[in-house]
Amino acid sequence: MYDIAIVGAGVNGCSMAYEFSLENKKVIIFDMDGISSGGSGAAGAFISPKFSKTGDLKELLNKAFSYSMEYYEKNFPTLFKKSRLIHIAKDEDSSKNINEYKKSTKLELLNTPKDFMSGLSEYANSYENICMETAVVNAKSICSAMSKGAKHIKEKVDTLIYDDGQWIINDVYVAKHVILSTGAYKSVIDEPYIKIRGIWGHRIDVKTSTDNPYTIHQDVSISKSENGELAIGATHDVHYHPQTSNKAYDIENGRVELLNKARKTIDLEDLEVIKDYTGLRSGSSDYMPIVGRVVLSRETLRSCKNITNGKKYSADDFTYYPNLYILNGSAGYGFVLAPYLAKQLKDFILYAKDIDEAISPVRLFVRWAKRLG
Ligand SMILES: Cc1cc2nc3c(=O)[nH]c(=O)nc-3n(C[C@H](O)[C@H](O)[C@H](O)COP(=O)(O)OP(=O)(O)OC[C@H]3O[C@@H](n4cnc5c(N)ncnc54)[C@H](O)[C@@H]3O)c2cc1C
Repeated sequence: MYDIAIVGAGVNGCSMAYEFSLENKKVIIFDMDGISSGGSGAAGAFISPKFSKTGDLKELLNKAFSYSMEYYEKNFPTLFKKSRLIHIAKDEDSSKNINEYKKSTKLELLNTPKDFMSGLSEYANSYENICMETAVVNAKSICSAMSKGAKHIKEKVDTLIYDDGQWIINDVYVAKHVILSTGAYKSVIDEPYIKIRGIWGHRIDVKTSTDNPYTIHQDVSISKSENGELAIGATHDVHYHPQTSNKAYDIENGRVELLNKARKTIDLEDLEVIKDYTGLRSGSSDYMPIVGRVVLSRETLRSCKNITNGKKYSADDFTYYPNLYILNGSAGYGFVLAPYLAKQLKDFILYAKDIDEAISPVRLFVRWAKRLG
């Protein structure tokens, strides 16, 4: 029997595997298509904060950014590279946000290199920008390194049955705890209050004679050049889903879109696309991640009947799936959030430390239940 079974070997599942390997737990991790075959494999995997005015997500991401920068550098130094980021607004509204951010942030800001900016397009120079020390990790290698201590099974998890204090997975594997980190792919359990929205993304590695010394984010993310190559990526298709769409994603069209957007910011010469990566990123209905134990909605509605009339209950009054947890909904920030959130979920499972309700599935259940009334 395994201590922990993880469904999904993206950055969330692999960060969980790493946390439990530090505790010498026996971990098994399932992925239907192999390590980082979903959104994580498509990510540029930039580690950067969120440049908005205020809000819970900005606060969470600022904390997670500082935590992750240290975490990757300390634990995976060869897969982590510092890179100076120039984040450029796309319009007047996002210019205002950047200005507000600059006034309020405690993170260290750098002067944007003027000579470099003068070589960028008029569009890039029309709006506010911000420059700071950020980083990038190698998405696939970091997921493999984090989950090295776990047993990997390349198999789709179809059934989870709880029997006699243990979870039986696909009628074969047995574990005490199960963590669902399945991203925006079809869920293993069906709970109506957990709605994950997938946004399809595409990244290309290109060869170019233009040397780019910075990470640039404007309409798309453009990485720093290395050996004459750089990566361009974005999540830009809200309609395409690989499990429900009846036609294949148009890779050629996606490339054209990415290159057109990149060229709005920087002129890339002698360009040749050498590799494509695609995947879904997953977002929750309120954009905050979903971390913690999973409420059993049917049973809880029975025992806390007046919740639909707005009566307030304590989360301790609710019924939960035994030893079943979720880590999902990290939107465009999976590589920033995963180490920070995985530590919190591990501390909850092993040491009963509280998880903030702003990220717990409880908040989604309560809102959903009130709407039933
Ligand atoms: C183009 C693009 C660029 C991005 N850039 C960045 C960036 O620069 N920085 C950043 O922090 N984030 C970025 N993101 C977002 C980031 O990739 C996601 O937040 C992150 O990958 C989410 O990880 P996850 O583990 O939740 O999901 P995923 O990586 O999607 O992993 C879920 C896994 O679960 C598996 N799975 C699902 N159901 C089952 C099942 N029933 N049985 C077995 N396996 C199952 C899937 O095969 C998949 O591998 C980007 C995303 C995209 C698409």
